[in-house]
Amino acid sequence: MKVFVVNCGSSSIKYQLFSMTNEVVLAKGVVERVGTGDAILKMRAGATSLKFKIKAPDHTAALNIILETLLDPKLGVLENIGQIEGVGHRVVHGGEDATKSARIDDNLIAIIRKNSQLAPLHNPPNLMGIEAAMAAMPKVPHVAVWDTAFLSTLPPEAYRYAVPAEWYTKYGVRRYGFHGTSHRYVTQQAATLLGKPLEGINLITCHLGNGCSMTAIQGGKAVEHSMGMTPLEGLVMGTRCGDIDPAVVLYMISQGMKPEDVDKALNKDSGLIGVSGLSNDMRDLLGHRDRGEKGAELAIDLFVYRLQKYVGAYYAILPSVDAVILTGGIGENSLPVRQMLCEKLTRLGAIPDEKRNLDTVGGKKGPITANGSDLPVWVIPTNEELMIARDTQRIVAGG
Ligand code: AMP
Repeated sequence: MKVFVVNCGSSSIKYQLFSMTNEVVLAKGVVERVGTGDAILKMRAGATSLKFKIKAPDHTAALNIILETLLDPKLGVLENIGQIEGVGHRVVHGGEDATKSARIDDNLIAIIRKNSQLAPLHNPPNLMGIEAAMAAMPKVPHVAVWDTAFLSTLPPEAYRYAVPAEWYTKYGVRRYGFHGTSHRYVTQQAATLLGKPLEGINLITCHLGNGCSMTAIQGGKAVEHSMGMTPLEGLVMGTRCGDIDPAVVLYMISQGMKPEDVDKALNKDSGLIGVSGLSNDMRDLLGHRDRGEKGAELAIDLFVYRLQKYVGAYYAILPSVDAVILTGGIGENSLPVRQMLCEKLTRLGAIPDEKRNLDTVGGKKGPITANGSDLPVWVIPTNEELMIARDTQRIVAGG
């Protein structure tokens, strides 16, 4: 079975075409700057790499060009569009209405629309991608895989905020969480790698990319999570602040900032870039730190310290911890950050292993703590697209 996976943003469409027989990626790429007049299509299929300008005034036009390009006989990945038997869509916010991946129908589209008020930057473009793909492939089942669904198992004491109850009942103010597909993927991988049944595994999973989140997993299910009603809460991120005193927002407004400017500052100008004043990119920051720049050093220290605090909190609420799992661009690649974190977790039983840390890069998975660690720390590369493809295959097959 061939499955097409779509991740649609406001001005981009990322896509992957899978052959599910052996779970290989036949082609993948992105269209950037959709709707701007100078869109670019990038595609990799086997040894072939393509990059060219296209006319894509909207998502429908961009998607049709992606499909036409996939049909190019020179690529040899698709003979006709009918070979695609399922389309999986990443959808960010399902609110309390979506607890698992599901086939897209009118009811499900209404759920995406309803939850757009909670994710105004994400759900509307996700929906544009769905509508474009459904128009291009009307006979094929389309499946929604939600960022929030894996986190729908949080108990009330984890998802409720201590604010007036009506804020929740009337306005839906609660923790929803994000990156759920990534946390679910690494949880399943960890169960296999650690040789434990999924329902018996307890983990602390850390998705550390430009956005960062952490999940406490008990018996294979999410019981606590660091992102909140929006992705702003929790860990220090590339450009987001993570946890702050909510009174800071009101104080800055009282100092003359407009609410929308505070919103932008906390989402786009905070985190690593805000503290360092240099970059949101961990690679750059490590370089700056090594050249003696104090702002970079402080930003990295803050990043790792917040991680350490969260691991401590999640360690306290779980009955036991089989492993801490690191994933995402920083988790998979940033050796100094991983080493710093392992050193900060020695009191909880981690024994850092520098050689293992050095060896586990470039998509490799494995422990970066020594044998005999009471708290093993593992690196497991994430693969959200494969998770989406697997769900799509299962649902198309009637599962
Ligand atoms: P993501 O959002 O998952 O693509 O992750 C982006 C983050 O991963 C950025 O902060 C990158 O600097 C970081 N990253 C990616 N590769 C490396 C690397 N080789 N060393 C350090 N950080 C990296």
